[in-house]
Order: sequence, then C-alpha cells, then structure tokens
Amino acid sequence: MFKIILKITEMAQNYVKQVLRDRDVAVDATLGNGNDTIFLSGLVPEGRVYSFEIQRECVKKFKKEIEIKGIRNIEVINDGHENMDLYIKESPKAIMFNLGYLPGGYKNVITRPETTIAALKKGLKMLSPGGIITIAVYRGHEGGEEEGNAVLDFINGLDPKIYNAMVIKYVNRKGMAPFLIVIEKNCSVGGDKYN
Ligand code: SAM
Repeated sequence: MFKIILKITEMAQNYVKQVLRDRDVAVDATLGNGNDTIFLSGLVPEGRVYSFEIQRECVKKFKKEIEIKGIRNIEVINDGHENMDLYIKESPKAIMFNLGYLPGGYKNVITRPETTIAALKKGLKMLSPGGIITIAVYRGHEGGEEEGNAVLDFINGLDPKIYNAMVIKYVNRKGMAPFLIVIEKNCSVGGDKYN
C-alpha cells in the first residue's frame, strides 16, 4: 500500500535522494549494518561515500560485504564521526546520521551528545551549499532523550541566514518516538562556517 508517512529512516533517504547526483560526495556518519551507506553508494556511482563507525566488527563485516559485491565507491573508516574532517577533503552534498545503538548489536555502544554535536559542527562546516544533513534521532534507550535534547538545542541555534532546519516527528505515538531532523545549507553561502 502506498504510504505518505514512512519510517524516519525512509523519510531521511527520500530527502537525500532529492539532492544527490552521480558525482557527489556523501557521508554516512553511523555505518552500523550499512543500510544508508549502500543506499548512498547507489546514488553516487561516480562519486564517493565516506562511512564512519567506531565498532571494529561492523567495519570488518561491511568491508567484506562490499568487497564481495564489488562496490568500489565507499570508504569505510573505523573512527568516530567527530573526526570526519581528518578523512574528507571534499565538500559532501549529503551527510546522514542515525543515532542510538545498532539494532541487534551491543546496546551499550551508543552515539553520544558531545561527539554527535562535534560531528555536526564539522559536517555543517564542510557541507556543500545546497547540501543537506539528516539526523534520525532515537530516544528509547538510556541516554537517548538527553542526546535528542542536546541535538535539538544545537539545531535551534543555527543561523537562519545560512541554514533551514526542520524537525519531523510523530505526534500521536506514546513514549519516546523517534524523530527526524533535516538541515539544508543555503545555496548562497560559502562552505567555511556553520553559524
Ligand atoms: N545506519 C545504521 C544501519 O544502517 O545499520 C545504524 C546506525 S546505529 C543506530 C548507530 C551506530 O553508530 C552504531 O553502529 C554505533 O556503533 C555507531 N556509533 C556510535 N558512536 C559513533 C561515533 N562517534 N562515530 C561513528 N559511529 C558511531
């Protein structure tokens, strides 16, 4: 059945699909099982995808997967997204964050407010004008609500002359429903500042 209101990860992909072109550079800030990375890779066949993950096992498993599939436009980096500026010299057109813990993985390895915000600052600075950042925020786990609030506080402070930012959330769900943040960098600004 055709649905308008999708899962937040699907909605994030729909926004990203609208901005990426064949030769663009994209970033998956939270590789996990690699769903967003594979999605990005397909959208930029002549470009590059940088994917960050702190869990070595995820990186190893995913590297093997893309080797078997013969996918060559992905660079998998076993380091925190807060260090993305050390690895990426181009201006990405899209950066995807999927916060929280890896479903089916270790629940104690989670994204954290300090590193997430450090990565967002760097990502916004590097982002190409006209590019977007999507952040899928999960809050059901310990520390998730705090991280969600910290990210919202940070986003609320972004200069509207440089960025358009919005939150998409379910309003009729009980408990800590996930939400999606989309930030667009205006086309008329340079790529050297975040606010
Ligand atoms: N998008 C992923 C997928 O398709 O499976 C799911 C991502 S999962 C919700 C969050 C991931 O972020 C976890 O695998 C976790 O290990 C990773 N992570 C936590 N802190 C990180 C950091 N500082 N830098 C990069 N990845 C991090």
